[in-house]
Amino acid sequence: MGVIEVRNLHKSYGRTKALNGISFELREGEVFALLGPNGAGKTTTIFIILGLLQADEGDVFVDGEKVSPGKYEYRKKIGAVLEENGIYERLKVRESLQFWGEIYGLSNQEIRRRIEELSEELGIDFLEKRGSELSRGMRQKGSLARALLPHPPILILDEPTDGLDVPARETFKKIVRKERENGKSILYSTHIMAEVEEIADRIAIIHKGNIVTSGTLQELQEKYGEKKLEKIFIRAIGYEL
Ligand code: ATP
Repeated sequence: MGVIEVRNLHKSYGRTKALNGISFELREGEVFALLGPNGAGKTTTIFIILGLLQADEGDVFVDGEKVSPGKYEYRKKIGAVLEENGIYERLKVRESLQFWGEIYGLSNQEIRRRIEELSEELGIDFLEKRGSELSRGMRQKGSLARALLPHPPILILDEPTDGLDVPARETFKKIVRKERENGKSILYSTHIMAEVEEIADRIAIIHKGNIVTSGTLQELQEKYGEKKLEKIFIRAIGYEL
């Protein structure tokens, strides 16, 4: 059984059907990419896994435990990077991280140690700046540091490299590889193909609320008879050139 199992999720917003029976699993120690165009249903899926949205139908299991409203114990196992990233405008980055460390129940000493460690690892040299003074990439790094503070075994990242420049993307890839080596299981969503080719162990292509195909890059290459993920993607979503 995977560390996260997503079974047959359905979700509508009014008349918009966002998810139409999404199922997949995140296996222990892997990097799993949810790859899909704008509006495919990636964020909706991630929000349901995190308990921030309720599905109309279907189940999510984390470490075999069914996620249901009011059950938040499982969330301690997951570090999440979402668009609303917990780096506060008026606080210095250090203060935002301290705040989250306390929320996560770490001791002051542990918080200080983790902040130093993570700033070094992630190249955060703006601990004394306020959230309002940060660029997008800086915020993303800050948000990633927040998610990693309590050493969660699972990471969920929603379009973490959106808007980042090339060096920041390289840093992100390095971090993902390193966290995977540390034994973390990582689920992340993106629409950037090159990155997926480089760091994902398995890929699910999501389109209009359905997973249209999934597997390792090699499996998808064999299935579609194409080498480049971009070509596979276009074929999988049935896009007519
Ligand atoms: P993107 O790559 O653009 O972030 P996504 O794959 O994360 O897209 P979702 O945000 O999950 O896609 O959206 C899936 C569908 O649900 C889209 O059709 C979107 O318009 C719709 N949707 C998402 N959030 C809402 C909402 N709060 N109210 C109404 N419709 C919504």
